[in-house]
Amino acid sequence: MIDIGANLSNPTFEHDLADVLQRAKDAKLQGIIVTGTSVESSLAALALAEQQPNFLYATAGVHPHDADSYNDNIETQLIAMLDKPNIVAVGETGLDFNRNFSTPDNQRQAFEAQIALANRYQKPLFLHERDAFKDFYAIMAANKKEQTQAVVHCFTGSETALKAYLDLGLYIGITGWISDKKRGVNLREIIKYAPLDRLMIETDAPYLTPQQAGLKSQLSKKNRNEPWTLPYTAATLAECLGVETTMLIEKTTENTNNFFNLVS
Ligand SMILES: [Zn+2]
Repeated sequence: MIDIGANLSNPTFEHDLADVLQRAKDAKLQGIIVTGTSVESSLAALALAEQQPNFLYATAGVHPHDADSYNDNIETQLIAMLDKPNIVAVGETGLDFNRNFSTPDNQRQAFEAQIALANRYQKPLFLHERDAFKDFYAIMAANKKEQTQAVVHCFTGSETALKAYLDLGLYIGITGWISDKKRGVNLREIIKYAPLDRLMIETDAPYLTPQQAGLKSQLSKKNRNEPWTLPYTAATLAECLGVETTMLIEKTTENTNNFFNLVS
């Protein structure tokens, strides 16, 4: 079982990361892809991946929230990272019109620039889309031909969006959002439209703690999600799909290894 998105370079993990990683291993995780959301956090993710090769991997990219800061200098620093084998994807990039921490124009530009990087360096894309289906779809559709593989991480969108992304050949990342009683209703209902060979699982730690009863009280730090909770998301997803959890884990792990080219 592999967590395709954990923000382990977040300061909240600074003091006890070794324990966090041990708990993940105890929960049978075989790998964690550490999300980069800026040059700084991508460098930090890379450093972690280099300390624990074959268990930690990293992405390098600029999150839509930080798109206002995207420029040639940032891009040069990203390019320097994309040569490293421990960087397994370009991202997190995409569009987030929910909060618009960066202007939509800058988000579109930074997104397109990073798609170009992924194509040039032949790395898959780790993507974020929130309340931006139309523009996000248009940009991905326009790049369909030369595009490397891409996963829409933490998918929380509509049935229309899900089907459109699948038609484009995109992969879908599922977080603990799926077990959220209220916010997860729609996702639990529609995820059956995604074939097993397009699904991957992730925690998005320290965010999005799964909502199973009793789980929250087991967290070592209040309200901080950890990779060890990934089996809970696997179980909920398996239930929604009507398949055995072991089979779901086997299949999503295989998808992840192939997608990110993890097995050398
Ligand atoms: Zn995200």
